[in-house]
Amino acid sequence: MPNVTQIYIQQYLIEVNYKMERIKNIDDNYFFENYKDITKRQKASPRSVIRHIALDFAALIFSLINKRQILKTPRIQFLYIHHIFKDEEASLIQLLQYLQKDHVFISYSDAVRKICNDDIDAPYICLSSDDGFKNNLSAAKIFQQFGISACFFINPEFTNNAESFEKTKTNCISKLSLPPVEFMNWNDVNSLIKKGHEIGAHTLSHDNLAKISDADFELDCLKSIQQIRQNCKEVKHFAWPYGRFFHFSESKQNIVFNVGFESCASAERGCHLGLKTNNYKNLILRRDHIVLNWPLRHIEYFLMRNAMKMQEQNNYFPNVSK
Ligand SMILES: [Zn+2]
Repeated sequence: MPNVTQIYIQQYLIEVNYKMERIKNIDDNYFFENYKDITKRQKASPRSVIRHIALDFAALIFSLINKRQILKTPRIQFLYIHHIFKDEEASLIQLLQYLQKDHVFISYSDAVRKICNDDIDAPYICLSSDDGFKNNLSAAKIFQQFGISACFFINPEFTNNAESFEKTKTNCISKLSLPPVEFMNWNDVNSLIKKGHEIGAHTLSHDNLAKISDADFELDCLKSIQQIRQNCKEVKHFAWPYGRFFHFSESKQNIVFNVGFESCASAERGCHLGLKTNNYKNLILRRDHIVLNWPLRHIEYFLMRNAMKMQEQNNYFPNVSK
């Protein structure tokens, strides 16, 4: 009989295939600039409709609890986005206004340092963004209004080919299940650094690491570091594509730190207490994915659930006692 993890992975793959089917025959030859135009193409899958209703219900239950007290729990909560299309900008401002009521924004390197030094004295939020879309420049502008330093995880091959519409379209469809969305070029990436943000690596071209050997992964990491260093200043942080534990392994975690990265991030939900061992190479960061058109009450539910379920095990790869 399949176990819960197998059922979960099965459901996850069904959802990915559903999105791929919707997007692969797209013949529009322009960059999409509004999220509503993408959601129209993708249409909500049956799983996402059920999920939305379940989240509404969970959020309703949680609204009966003393929210402020839970949200003020000292912890580090990472949140990440992928894109901020024109019709998502107002939602990002609204989200940040909401978050700053109970939290302190912190840069990515400071967040990692605080976890490693077991020095968490307040409720902190750390923001990042994956995949390097050009519309991240709008996020950076908004972050600046709130005094936020974020980390932008890029795929150097996408950045190298940012000027080619055809290559961008192929990458968006095959790797991200999206219609064509423009990526940042290296000038754009450098403009983020000038604004006080950090650049992280997200592999060269967003491959599923579960299908790649450790030797090939090590080469990918080394090339990513080399290309980002060549074009920007430095790169300290790594986040693996697709982000679930089943896309990664402990042996790949070891490679991430051995090639010189200082942190390794997933896209698994959860928040962090300080690390109780003094080996930062044990740490796997959890980040909560956010789509800006989600209702704020759903995001609040995730924040509260994470704070209530926080435990030291969140700092490590699952099923491994350190
Ligand atoms: Zn990604």
